[in-house]
Amino acid sequence: MEHKDQILYEAGDGVAVITLNRPEAANAQSMSLLDDLDAAWSRAEADDDVRVIVLKANGRHFSAGHDLKGGGPVPDKITLEHVYGVEARRYLGYSLRWRNVPKPSIAAVQGKCIAGGLMLCWPCDLIVAAENAQFSDPVVHMGIGGVEYHGHTWELGPRKAKEILFTGRPVTAEEAEKAGMVNRVVPLDELEATAMELAGQIARMHPFALRQAKRAVNQTLDVQGFYAAVQSVFDTHQTGHGNAFSVAGFPVLMRYDELKGKISGG
Ligand code: ZN
Repeated sequence: MEHKDQILYEAGDGVAVITLNRPEAANAQSMSLLDDLDAAWSRAEADDDVRVIVLKANGRHFSAGHDLKGGGPVPDKITLEHVYGVEARRYLGYSLRWRNVPKPSIAAVQGKCIAGGLMLCWPCDLIVAAENAQFSDPVVHMGIGGVEYHGHTWELGPRKAKEILFTGRPVTAEEAEKAGMVNRVVPLDELEATAMELAGQIARMHPFALRQAKRAVNQTLDVQGFYAAVQSVFDTHQTGHGNAFSVAGFPVLMRYDELKGKISGG
């Protein structure tokens, strides 16, 4: 089988562009895709010529979330210890690391951004959404109280966070902008140009001042409890996996295909 890069990387004029490139699977996140994505973030972070990072996705949808089918090698007996370890490193760990890369980042989101998809765009500093973007975390359907990185309350406020978790319904781009989760909503065909224009504008600013401006906002959130809350909710999330193990012997209560039917049918 011909190898195709799941993550594309290009840099020029002070802007690194990282592209999710698994459109045939709606950019579902396999373990290797996440590792490649993390490597791309590291590359952008290490390159002094890169001042701004843009994260975008090829295809109709930004990301369908974690790829629960092709998740890579799974031990004979899956344990909570295994799940906790993988998720602490690749899900929570990566998202927090990307959030704290000391350069401004911009996510450009179109189509569906489901569950694990949120964990790719929320860590970015700015989000530009196409009019057709829909953000959802339907994992309560799977017996779990929300994805591993609890941005919900911080991004949407407590009422809307609860509503989308309780119902699993998507938040539209317009609604996300009103809630302050998204900076701008633009027609789909203007998404990439808008993100690149914004990136170009920011790339002309003083890099150290940008770094300190980002740190000011992130530190303020951390002082308000963001870091501690995200860590403790990660453990709450793991009790969902633990309960599913105890009930079904599997880390979630509904298998991927059933969930997929629910999402596409609903
Ligand atoms: Zn999990």
